[in-house]
Amino acid sequence: MPTSAAPLAVICAMAEEEAALAELMVHVETRMLLGRRVVLGQLDGHDVVVSESGVGKVASAVTAALLAHEFGCRGLVVSGVAGGLDPALHIGDTVIAHSLVQHDYGHLQDAAMIPFRPGVPPLGEHRRDYAFELAPDLIDRLTRAAAEIDLPDLPADLAAPGERRRRVLMGRILSGDQFINSEVVRRRLHTEFGAQAVEMEGAAVAQVGALLGLPVVVVRCLSDLAGADSHLDFPRFVAAVAPGAATVLRRVIRELW
Ligand code: SAH
Repeated sequence: MPTSAAPLAVICAMAEEEAALAELMVHVETRMLLGRRVVLGQLDGHDVVVSESGVGKVASAVTAALLAHEFGCRGLVVSGVAGGLDPALHIGDTVIAHSLVQHDYGHLQDAAMIPFRPGVPPLGEHRRDYAFELAPDLIDRLTRAAAEIDLPDLPADLAAPGERRRRVLMGRILSGDQFINSEVVRRRLHTEFGAQAVEMEGAAVAQVGALLGLPVVVVRCLSDLAGADSHLDFPRFVAAVAPGAATVLRRVIRELW
């Protein structure tokens, strides 16, 4: 079985997401790190350190930096749930990010939001590099891995009648300090950014990864579709779909060693 001195850090925003992953780990030990509980152990023979960061960009970025510094991590992973933006996607589908954008970072000019690269002043000529992109070879490997994954059907009381198999795909994921519960915003985010999903942490951890020179992989199973019903769908589906992200992560993790 593979082992390594440098573990992978896994950041989960919420307890449901962390629990789905901790259930699959062995040789588990728990430590506290600046008020955060960190679970150390192995996932299929790979060393991982997992922590529940709390929701939002600051909480997840602080946790990512702490884990990277304390454990000398080889890479950063965010695992959990998200709202779907692409109307082709269903609740329970899973997106692996090839590109991450902080959709709330930029220059607000009248009604127009001009995205900028986080960390630079939101004026001037930096706007073109606003996305954090994965390395092309890692994208290729993750694309092949995604095609091999078969997720189990959702429980019968949650699955839509006649629904197709759950999809696992590569896509662009947006992050911002807002829970999206609006059809107008869902449509705007999908068309303006060409994105598949929206959540509140991934692109903040991508910024930390860029600073530290570490790869960042974000895996998100859809708990809602970010539109008018997302405030109802999120609590209904979060516990049922969180294990989907953990299942996908289990396959993806092999590509980070
Ligand atoms: N704990 C709160 C809600 C958490 S916010 C509650 O009990 O109501 C939603 C969490 O899931 C965030 O961590 C975010 O990353 C993800 N998420 C799921 N759907 C989302 C959406 N529609 N918009 C933004 N983030 C979403």
